[in-house]
Amino acid sequence: QPSSTEAPNSIEAKDIAYQLHSYTNARKQEAEGSLVIERGEGVYVFDNNGKRYIESMAGLWSVAVGFGEKRLVEAATRQMAKLPYYHTFTQKTHGPSVDLAEKLIAMAPVPMSKAYFTNSGSEANDTVVKIVRYRSNALGKPEKKKIISRLKGYHGVTLASASLTGLPNNHRAFDLPMPGILHTTCPHYRAGAVPGESELEFSQRCANDLESLILAEGPDTVAAFIGEPVIGAGGVIVPPSGYWQAIQAVLKKYDILLIADEVICGFGRTGEMFGSTKYEIEPDIMTLSKQLSSSYLPISAVLINDRIYQPIADESALIGTFGHGFTASGHPVAAAVALENLAIIEERDLVGNVRTLSPHFLSRLRALESHPLAVEARGVGLIGALETYHAAFAEKPGALGAALNRAMHERGLIARNLGDTIAFCPPLIINEAQIDEIFDIVEASFDAVN
Ligand code: PLP
Repeated sequence: QPSSTEAPNSIEAKDIAYQLHSYTNARKQEAEGSLVIERGEGVYVFDNNGKRYIESMAGLWSVAVGFGEKRLVEAATRQMAKLPYYHTFTQKTHGPSVDLAEKLIAMAPVPMSKAYFTNSGSEANDTVVKIVRYRSNALGKPEKKKIISRLKGYHGVTLASASLTGLPNNHRAFDLPMPGILHTTCPHYRAGAVPGESELEFSQRCANDLESLILAEGPDTVAAFIGEPVIGAGGVIVPPSGYWQAIQAVLKKYDILLIADEVICGFGRTGEMFGSTKYEIEPDIMTLSKQLSSSYLPISAVLINDRIYQPIADESALIGTFGHGFTASGHPVAAAVALENLAIIEERDLVGNVRTLSPHFLSRLRALESHPLAVEARGVGLIGALETYHAAFAEKPGALGAALNRAMHERGLIARNLGDTIAFCPPLIINEAQIDEIFDIVEASFDAVN
């Protein structure tokens, strides 16, 4: 979907000359160039040729309040003028980080004790891996350190968080996963269930697989389990009935901590404020980012309960410090923007908007399931995906997804193909007519490629 790369001083040409891109085939990028997005307004973004796209992925699952929200610009400007930067090391603090910590503890779906601020979802999950280790050492259980995550789970790209991620592209050529991180069954019912198996039976089998792994490793060596309430980047995999209940029963049995990665689900995506509420998950630790600030500025948070906080506080007294922290942890401008963003989500009842619109969103999504290119439609709240297949593209995984993506792009829609699965995760401010605009384009694109 490149723009012109011909003018030597164009953004396109300079992009090729100077920038290495995330999640990009660099040689393809050199040959084709990039799409230059110049501005955004509501659920739309515009490229540098003035072409408008409806942004059905909210950027990267994150721009809850839409693009061009003036209140966030003003909140940032106010804070920038007052105190553009300060840190939270060595007993220093500032109002925005304190207010945001208080707000997140108040919003949390289960009692939480403290918030720790980081700058990305990856840093939040990386911090969690370190917190889990620190705590086990504090408790005098140095052998209890392994963390179990799931195949197809996505938790980020730092060495530790990429190890938690259960996707081959995040491991291959990076020499990952690192030792001590294990992966268990992905709860994808259609792909994983055996004939005749009910959702409940399949969920129980996932929990049995988890228990077998714990027993094989030795329960005294397993510290924690991490999961997204709904798997996002791994293909929008909605948990089958009874899944989280069955998993939590196993974790309780072996005294294993539960970490909910709410980086996508948090702040309304599933129709509840948190995915943990939606699926009755009771985490000890939660990680938050993306819709926390609508990604207007980078910020993320780790919430920990008292079972985590108290031993960490003891150990920090013993060692003399909790030796962890980022220069920008709790950055005042990012925290001020997050607070204003959360105020907008609450004042405009965007979670209510998700509940109101979800049936329409899901019915348009599921209507495509009968299309010859579709294998399965999955979704909850305002997050969904269409898994696709066509014999003509079967030899090259991802080729059909890419062709569909191109067709949608030509018609003014930005979606995201995760291989051959097309994901949708629009801004929470979307309305019914805009949902129709998205799926009218999706239908036309599927027909064009078929
Ligand atoms: N966790 C989940 C569930 C995510 O979806 C993502 C990013 O997509 C991350 C963690 C990593 O966040 P970041 O890209 O901000 O490092």
